[in-house]
Amino acid sequence: MIAVMDITITKAERSKLPATKPENLSFGRYFTDHMLEADYENGEWKNIEIKPYQPLLLSPSVAALHYGQAIFEGIKAYRNEAGEAFIFRPHDNYRRFNISAQRMQMPTVPEELFIEGMRQLVAMDKNWIPQLQDHSLYIRPFMFASDELIGVRPSDNYKFLIILSPTGPYYNAPMRIYVEEQYVRAVPGGVGYAKTAGNYAAAMLATANAKKLGYDQVLWTDAFEHKYVQEIGTMNVFFIIGNKAYTPDLSLGTILDGVTRSSAIELLKEMGYDLVERRITIDELMDAYKAGELKEVFGTGTAATISMIKELRYKDFVMEFDVDSWSAGPTLKNWITDIREGRKEDKYGWMYKID
Ligand SMILES: *Cc1c(COP(=O)(O)O)cnc(C)c1O
Repeated sequence: MIAVMDITITKAERSKLPATKPENLSFGRYFTDHMLEADYENGEWKNIEIKPYQPLLLSPSVAALHYGQAIFEGIKAYRNEAGEAFIFRPHDNYRRFNISAQRMQMPTVPEELFIEGMRQLVAMDKNWIPQLQDHSLYIRPFMFASDELIGVRPSDNYKFLIILSPTGPYYNAPMRIYVEEQYVRAVPGGVGYAKTAGNYAAAMLATANAKKLGYDQVLWTDAFEHKYVQEIGTMNVFFIIGNKAYTPDLSLGTILDGVTRSSAIELLKEMGYDLVERRITIDELMDAYKAGELKEVFGTGTAATISMIKELRYKDFVMEFDVDSWSAGPTLKNWITDIREGRKEDKYGWMYKID
């Protein structure tokens, strides 16, 4: 049983909801009526508030802006045809948030604050969860160092917030991917497994270069040999080779442990694929492709769910795929979407009912 926290609630005077058309919601641009905010001071979480969505007033010296002690999560809420609201696997994001916090020398957040705070916030803005197919409410919990001090050390004070953004279908055409060999995302001993702000800033140059060449994203490779594949942009990656599904294992700490990844692993097994988690080289992918065995390549993540890859380019070697003939990726995508939107049985207990 979750202890009831002391959350101060201030309701917005009127909802902004009618102004926004659910059909043309571009990702992450619109926010709901309310947000949650809490402060970490003197070793404890306090001032927990749900209040109208509003700007923060910050000192220019606030530590997170200088040294990047900042972490976040991405989660989605759905409404089924009966109008009941659910959040997809929030406890997995909760655990991962605290793993990121520990890596960045930040305080952990108690379950009552993260889960119960999120539940109450989403329940309050429930009318913002679009009830249309492929629509959802994106939930963004985040925490940052709020000491007003430009000294390099872990902050004493932190802010934890949750904001909500309704999102329409994340239109994801099959992607063209460039295998990155110059820049790296993560190294053993680094912060690749943490959802921390700096990882995303560090990735932007390589992604921009790939875009200039006409690619949508990069496939990151290991830092030493540029030979072991890691992730596609901010998605985990899966390869269907013969009747096996392969995805890089998490043991080196260079890969983000995606909630969609672990959901995909469960469902692919149920679909009859042998699931192999291990290091995967670009050479073996090319060999499988040449032998006609590399059937499908797709990325997994909360924002797009499953993104099909129609082209993978490594140096001058181009691997092309006929996405329309695929089976695993599209089946998986529909299955996860149907569970989330309440059309298919949730036998894994992934949907957390909020009211
Ligand atoms: C968030 C993220 C993912 C996907 O994780 P999900 O829990 O499935 O959304 C994968 N890789 C990176 C680098 C990420 O930041």
